[in-house]
Amino acid sequence: DYSIPASHDYELDRLCVELGDIIGQGQFGDVHQGWFRTKEAEKIPVAVKTCKLDADAATRDRFLEEAYIMQQFDHPHIVKLIGICSDTPIWIVMELAKYGEMRSYLQSHKHALDLATLILYAFQLSTALSYLESKKFVHRDIAARNVLVSAQDCVKLGDFGLSRWISEDQCYYKASKGKLPIKWLSPESVNFRQFNSKSDVWMFGVCIWEILMFGVKPFAGVQNNDVIGKIENGERLPLPPNCPPRLYALMSQCWAYEPSKRPGFQQLKESLYDILIEERQQ
Ligand code: ADP
Repeated sequence: DYSIPASHDYELDRLCVELGDIIGQGQFGDVHQGWFRTKEAEKIPVAVKTCKLDADAATRDRFLEEAYIMQQFDHPHIVKLIGICSDTPIWIVMELAKYGEMRSYLQSHKHALDLATLILYAFQLSTALSYLESKKFVHRDIAARNVLVSAQDCVKLGDFGLSRWISEDQCYYKASKGKLPIKWLSPESVNFRQFNSKSDVWMFGVCIWEILMFGVKPFAGVQNNDVIGKIENGERLPLPPNCPPRLYALMSQCWAYEPSKRPGFQQLKESLYDILIEERQQ
């Protein structure tokens, strides 16, 4: 559980924020590209998440919760919060990831991306997730759709949305069950609503698979309800084309049915580093 600190810590003067074009659609409102003028009068490119003007108080609070979560983190592969404007229109101002969503980037740059770069992305994300693990933070929504591209050789974890709406409270959880990313979830998350670092590891395995598949979603054409049965029967996502066997073996370990048999993020980070070096030497 996170505590909500006083919002003035991160309050920005709205006059220092300039809105540009719309670059995305969030569940709460448009996301704009923009600029933030720092105290040193430097103009830095930012992404500004907005909350629809007609949102009620509870929705506005949920919107801001993501900012409160992000403000606790400082890592090169996690999108940084710059600040918020907490009066309506509410704005969350973040570091801009210039190339946007990783999935569409992978799809449109399929022919320009080599295997070493794909492994680099997986490695960078493992460093972010190892950092979160060390802070005892469970993400619960690790998926390619939540990764942003800052540069050709740099990806960042960009969304902490789910941690805000999956509460330990069972009723709340049930109410939002329809929104759960079933195809990414570990069996214990689907069956017993358990979320911890080891269920994050399972999801990260699926995320690596999506990266190696250039943004293809897992279990395409399979009904959500049929996925758990396949997993229970020992079925797993197939070997992506060109995926080094050593990497597929690591992904398969992330999908061990028994959570304790899965590696931790520290170990994943070390293994991915070795696999990256090996691929670069090819
Ligand atoms: P929400 O979680 O509220 O639904 P997202 O975080 O998914 O919103 O943001 C919606 C879209 O806006 C993303 O898919 C992406 O295209 C864009 N976007 C969000 N944050 C950034 C960012 N920091 N840099 C660049 N684009 C971003």
